[in-house]
Amino acid sequence: MASASILDAWTPSSWRTKPIAQDVVYPNQAELNRATDRLKQLPGLVTPFEIEKLRKQLADVADGKAFLLQSGDCAELFTDCVPSKIDAKVKLSLLMSLILIWGGRLPVVRVGRIAGQYAKPRSKATEVVKTEDGEQVEVLTFRGDNVNAFQASASARRPDPERLLQSYFHSCATLNHIRASLGSGIADLHAPQSWSLAHVRSPALQREFSSVIESLEDALHFMQVVGADRNERSLESVDYYTSHEGLMLEYEESLTRGIESSRMSKSKLEAPNESTRASHYALSAHTLWLGDRTRQLDGAHVEYFRGLINPIGVKVGPSMKPGELVDLLAKVDPLAEKGRCTLICRFGAGKAPSLLPPLIQAVRSSPHANSVIWCSDPMHGNTRSSPLDPSIKTRRFGDVVTELVESLQVHAAERSRLAGVHLELTGEVNAKGESVTECVGGSMELSDEDLGRRYLTHCDPRLNYEQSLDVAFLLSHSLRS
Ligand code: PEP
Ligand code: MN
Repeated sequence: MASASILDAWTPSSWRTKPIAQDVVYPNQAELNRATDRLKQLPGLVTPFEIEKLRKQLADVADGKAFLLQSGDCAELFTDCVPSKIDAKVKLSLLMSLILIWGGRLPVVRVGRIAGQYAKPRSKATEVVKTEDGEQVEVLTFRGDNVNAFQASASARRPDPERLLQSYFHSCATLNHIRASLGSGIADLHAPQSWSLAHVRSPALQREFSSVIESLEDALHFMQVVGADRNERSLESVDYYTSHEGLMLEYEESLTRGIESSRMSKSKLEAPNESTRASHYALSAHTLWLGDRTRQLDGAHVEYFRGLINPIGVKVGPSMKPGELVDLLAKVDPLAEKGRCTLICRFGAGKAPSLLPPLIQAVRSSPHANSVIWCSDPMHGNTRSSPLDPSIKTRRFGDVVTELVESLQVHAAERSRLAGVHLELTGEVNAKGESVTECVGGSMELSDEDLGRRYLTHCDPRLNYEQSLDVAFLLSHSLRS
C-alpha cells in the first residue's frame, strides 16, 4: 500500500536526525533526560477520542460548514494558571463565538491558545538587559516559561529542563479547570453579563453593536422558550479545544503516543483512522501549529509534524513562496485529508492583496485544493514599536481589521473562503474592571499614551476584552453580508 510506506521512516524521535531551528541548548543532558523520561510515563493531557472529534469538526470547517476561532495568549506564564485568568479567556472565546455564529449562521469550532502555550520562538538568541542592581548584561533571551525565567539575570535565563515538567503540570491544571468549568455551566450564555457597550466611543458603532446584541438576545430567548437549549447539543455543553505552537520537540516527543498504546476502545478510533496514514497522536494538546520560523521543509519540526494524526496549523508569513507551500503540504499532509491542515496566514496590513492570491492559486492546482482551511492571523504581521517608547511593542487595531478585511476580500475575489481567524487576546480585567492596554485603537480608542496603564504581556501585545468583541462584531458583520 502506497500510503503505508509514506511514514516508514517516521518515529516520534526521527526529528532528531534533521537540522533544528530555534533550538534550546540545555547545559546538562542528564537533567534533560530525567525530565523527558518522566514525561514519557505521565498520561496524555488530551485524549485520542477528543482529537478525533476535532478532526471531524475541522473537516466541516474545510467544507465550509463551520468557522474556526483560535484565540488566546501569545505566551502563557505559569502564573497565569489561576481561575480568573483562565475563565476570562474561555468566556471571551465563548462570547466571540456566539457573535460569530449569529453572523455566519455556522457552528464555530473554538480552539484556545491555552493549556500549554509556553514556548516562544525568538529572533535573537541573546539580549542586553538591566539587572536589579542596574547593571547592563547580555543574557539569553526569554524563550517562554517552559524553557527559562523572565527575570533579567544570567541564571534565570539558563534553560532548565525541570520547566518541561512544570509546563506539563500547569497545562494539566489549566485544562482540568477548563473541563470542570465547561462541565458545570460556564458555557451558559443565556444571560451574557458582559454586553455593556459603555466603552464604545463612536455612536455609529454603538448603534451597530446594540442591534447585533438585540437580535442575539432575541434568538437566545426564543431558543429558551421553545426548549431548544435543553437538548443534548445545547448551549450549556460546548466543545473547547487546546492548542500551542509545537516548538519544543523534546516535550512533544515525550507526549506522543501510538494508537496501540491508547486506552481508547479500538472501535471508537478505528473508523476515523482509516482515512489517515499516521499512527501517533501528540497528546500535549488537541492541535499544534508549526511556527513561521520553524517550517523549513527539511527541518526537524516539519519532520515531527508529518507523523501526527492530530490536525495541525502552519503559519504562512510573507516569505512563503507558492511552490514552497505546495511542497510543505505534500510533506505534512500527503493524503490531503480534509481539515488536517489549517493555513494560518500572517502577512501584515496591506500585504494580503499581493501575497495571498498566488498562494490560493497554487493550492487550488494542488491535491490540497479542497482539504485546507484558510485562516487569517491578523496579529503577527502587524507588530510595531510604539512611537512614544520604541521598547514597547504594540499593534494598531486598524491594522488588524485591515488585514482581516483584505483577507476576506481576496478570498471572495478568488472564489475561495476565509474559514477561520487566529487572534492573540485576553479578556482579563483588574479588580476595577479595567482591561489590558497593549494594542492601540478599537472602539474604546486606546492611544499610545494609554499603553503604560495596563501593559501586562511578556511577549506580543494582545487585543483586550473590548477590542476582541469589536473584532467579533466586525467579522460577524462581514460573514453576514
Ligand atoms: C505566535 O503565534 O505567537 C508566533 C510566534 O507566530 P509566528 O510563528 O507566526 O511568528
Ligand atoms: Mn505572538
